[in-house]
Amino acid sequence: MQFENTRTFARNLDEQDKLSKYREEFIFPKVNNKDVIYFTGNSLGLQPKNARKYVDEVMEDWAELAVEGHFYAEKPWWDYHERLAAPLARVVGARAEEVTVMNTLTVNLHLLMVSFYRPDKKKFKIICEEKAFPSDQYMLASQVKFHGFDPKEAIVELRKRDGENYWRTEDVLSMIEEVGDELALVLIGGVNYYNGQVFDMKAITAAGHNAGAVVGWDLAHAAGNIKLELHDWDVDFAAWCSYKYMNSGPGNASGIYINEKYLGRKDIPRFEGWWGHNKERRFLMEPTFEPMPNAEAWHLSNPSVISFAPYLASLKMFDEVGMEALIEKSKVLTAYLEFILNEVDKEVEASFEILTPKERGCQLSVFLHGEGRSIFEYLMKNGVVVDWREPNVIRLAPVPLYCSFEDMYEFGQVLKRGLS
Ligand SMILES: *Cc1c(COP(=O)(O)O)cnc(C)c1O
Repeated sequence: MQFENTRTFARNLDEQDKLSKYREEFIFPKVNNKDVIYFTGNSLGLQPKNARKYVDEVMEDWAELAVEGHFYAEKPWWDYHERLAAPLARVVGARAEEVTVMNTLTVNLHLLMVSFYRPDKKKFKIICEEKAFPSDQYMLASQVKFHGFDPKEAIVELRKRDGENYWRTEDVLSMIEEVGDELALVLIGGVNYYNGQVFDMKAITAAGHNAGAVVGWDLAHAAGNIKLELHDWDVDFAAWCSYKYMNSGPGNASGIYINEKYLGRKDIPRFEGWWGHNKERRFLMEPTFEPMPNAEAWHLSNPSVISFAPYLASLKMFDEVGMEALIEKSKVLTAYLEFILNEVDKEVEASFEILTPKERGCQLSVFLHGEGRSIFEYLMKNGVVVDWREPNVIRLAPVPLYCSFEDMYEFGQVLKRGLS
């Protein structure tokens, strides 16, 4: 498509956009009495209007039924989480039994490491990307130490080539081959939080398996953003948070995926709790653990239903829209933003550079030469919510569910004023 940097052109695209009506389903903060242009859905998604209704429903059931709400609430609490599995499985390309929601992301990564990182003296190394999200770095290092290994030796970081801003798949694959027999686990962020790169999860998973390793993915920036086929790619396990592209609310619950080949097995080490026990017999309070036949075997506690309510509300919308349609819009919207950035770059003196490679979802990371921090502050004051990363990067996520083409055009105008 031949893009144009005009308001008319942008509005035209909005009129043709089948998803444009979903913008009305979200609550936008205001700056100078106007809805902001929101580019930080990769950090915290906007609140869907129906989230409050779902939360209120739980609050009312709690008020009216108290303990009886476990079984007699509008949506009974004891199996509330089951409602999330099928729609969430459709978002990540899995079978419903492979997916569940529990705890928060870093907690889940630790719990999954219990099952899937089983190092011995010969096979103990983990491959991850350099400068992974800090929580993942701390998680991996502490797991390695917990098993008595030295993180310096056990953790192999994938590096970018000198002068390049992204990882090359061929380098990832050859590193996997090089570590070979010593490789116990590959655990990478499917979409890198910093440069927005999407890794070739299918190829990397296959290469990891070839080396005899387990392959897991942190999908914090991938779930609800890009096309995932976890089951077909034969991924072993994955986890993600729900408050970024999944719009479930601050710090909210995490989803996990466990390949069906691991389900129903008693020989897999796992930290266990009563909510992972066979649900038909859960309240018999028997002494011996009998795992649920699905991913719920990894559940520990009875979950926080109030926190699941907005997640369920959001999933209802994802199900209605479907990932195909979402990604179709995402590609055009992100390309339009890229076009606008390049147009602005031609017109102003201070230049910048897009770090994100063409393998991407809906995020562009922009490296600003010169006065980056002041541009960031200027944008925030002028109703454009972006995110700042040291040393000089702003990240822009044009989330297709609630960002418009006119937002991209308007952003270009604001940016141009700030740079000239
Ligand atoms: C956002 C994010 C996290 C956050 O973890 P929490 O446990 O939810 O605080 C972890 N890892 C990655 C890659 C992230 O992007």
